[in-house]
Amino acid sequence: MKDTNQPLTTNFIQNIITEDLRQGKNDGRVHTRFPPEPNGYLHIGHAKSICLNFGLAEANGGLCNLRFDDTNPSKEEIEFVESIKEDVRWLGFDWGDRLYYASDYFDQLYEYAVQLIKAGKAYVCDLSAEEIKEYRGTLIEPGKESPYRNRSVEENLDLFERMKAGEFPEGSRVLRAKIDMASPNLNMRDPVLYRIMHKEHHRTGNKWCIYPMYDFAHPLSDALEGITHSICTLEFADHRPLYDWVLDNVDYSKEAKAKGRPQQIEFARLNLTYTVMSKRKLRILVEEGYVSGWDDPRMPTISGLRRRGYTPEAIRDFCERIGVAKSNSVVDIGMLEHCIREDLNKRAPRAMAVLRPLKVVIDNYPEDQVEWFEAENNPNDPDAGSRKIPFSKVIYIEQEDFMEDPPKKFFRLAPGREVRLKHAYIIKCEQVIKDEKTGEILEVHCTYDPETKSGEQGSGKKVKGTLHWVSAAHAVKAEVRLYDYLFTKENPEDEEDGSDFRANLNPHSLVVLPSALVEPSLAEAEPGSRYQFLRQGYFCVDPVDSKPGNLVFNRIVSLRDTWAKIKKEE
Ligand code: ATP
Ligand code: MG
Repeated sequence: MKDTNQPLTTNFIQNIITEDLRQGKNDGRVHTRFPPEPNGYLHIGHAKSICLNFGLAEANGGLCNLRFDDTNPSKEEIEFVESIKEDVRWLGFDWGDRLYYASDYFDQLYEYAVQLIKAGKAYVCDLSAEEIKEYRGTLIEPGKESPYRNRSVEENLDLFERMKAGEFPEGSRVLRAKIDMASPNLNMRDPVLYRIMHKEHHRTGNKWCIYPMYDFAHPLSDALEGITHSICTLEFADHRPLYDWVLDNVDYSKEAKAKGRPQQIEFARLNLTYTVMSKRKLRILVEEGYVSGWDDPRMPTISGLRRRGYTPEAIRDFCERIGVAKSNSVVDIGMLEHCIREDLNKRAPRAMAVLRPLKVVIDNYPEDQVEWFEAENNPNDPDAGSRKIPFSKVIYIEQEDFMEDPPKKFFRLAPGREVRLKHAYIIKCEQVIKDEKTGEILEVHCTYDPETKSGEQGSGKKVKGTLHWVSAAHAVKAEVRLYDYLFTKENPEDEEDGSDFRANLNPHSLVVLPSALVEPSLAEAEPGSRYQFLRQGYFCVDPVDSKPGNLVFNRIVSLRDTWAKIKKEE
């Protein structure tokens, strides 16, 4: 991250707002909007924009609208509209009664286009998309004027109306602003305002077959809603002169004009290591089946993060910490993980779960005895209380906590060595039983020392390792899904060798452990609830696939905080 970043609450955009308020601009109103295009699910980058727009409004006693930018009917679907609303709400923001659609303004926008034609500031152009591109010129060469540029107002009005009436095929004509083909800014070289698309729209049905371009619809939607600060990402900086041109040249409604004039402000978009962030690419991952859906827990979508077990608090905290900058940078994904660890460390109840079980028989423990030990639910939260966990003769420990022939520094269980079982006794490994043919370790036999009961007098005996475990007779079977990054490269979009981002997919991004065992207190765990499994990380009961009697846990994140470690060393 660049050190030009500033916290969300005191950043350069807030400074602009503060100055505007000081000068009494917009009658002291602050009004922002979050304008998603409903062509996919929201991702963590959108969360940054949501936190910024809703956050700045809130911090300045203002309002924030939710506006769907639904000007492109070929890609938009109702499913996306619904998911976006759900995600914004889940993040903790409220648009009140201010839910809008750019399509609400189609009638008005059409009138404004007619107005531009009448003023000689827009014309119907018959060049093909390719020719328009060719005529546009380059950064070092001026463009060429379209042969249709000097059509009469009457001809333009007639053609535009017939475009609207559906007389012409898709792509055959467009409406363009008449600005300046020699402008150093390519966006000002007679940009397209309207295009023909014979497509049904999810809200306006077949009423329209011409649709306004973003650059025309956006500034006018902002103005009509009384938006004061129109915050967008850096790639729109070059469009700002066009944004202003539209507002300067369209004589939009008096009421809207009385509210003041919106100002476009650009900030750097969020990029994350090991992550692709474009909806187009996320859509490819979904449609080509590389993931199970938009809410696959490996996806950087808000619905994926939610299913994985992320909390809205952690995501908002992350957006606050990354701040707002004026130049693009890439944020370490470890920082996002740090935020969820910090949140869950405070509030996730602890539990014991054995992901890859190894059977341990305690030879000197009475056959039918069961002891119930008291275990604290969260050492960081005195109010979290405690629960009872059963202990008996046969238990399971983690396979990786036992080694038959360990190196010296291995402080877990090995022949002749002692470890403490968390909340229970110290045990000593006496014997290993293996499959004669394969050499696979089948079970380990131990003895326990009854004088070493946890929390009791005389239990002060010290051993180096403490293991988590579950009682065989009481444990509940569960499926555990371990996730790794979806991509193997820090920058998966680094396609310099001509390969596609798909070539950087991590084949081990999902490991399913079908036979994990969890302590019995988790038998009734609610879908979506989160736990810290001792020594294994934070886990969430999968809200989609987990059913009573068929528990499924997603690992949200392991316990090892790489980002905090890096920060400490710096
Ligand atoms: P993508 O490029 O991922 O498809 P988009 O910009 O086309 O995203 P929109 O639905 O148009 O997606 O975005 C809605 C709002 O979210 C816009 O104001 C956009 O600037 C903002 N936004 C999109 N991606 C990011 C990001 N990575 N970081 C911050 N803001 C973002
Ligand atoms: Mg977009």
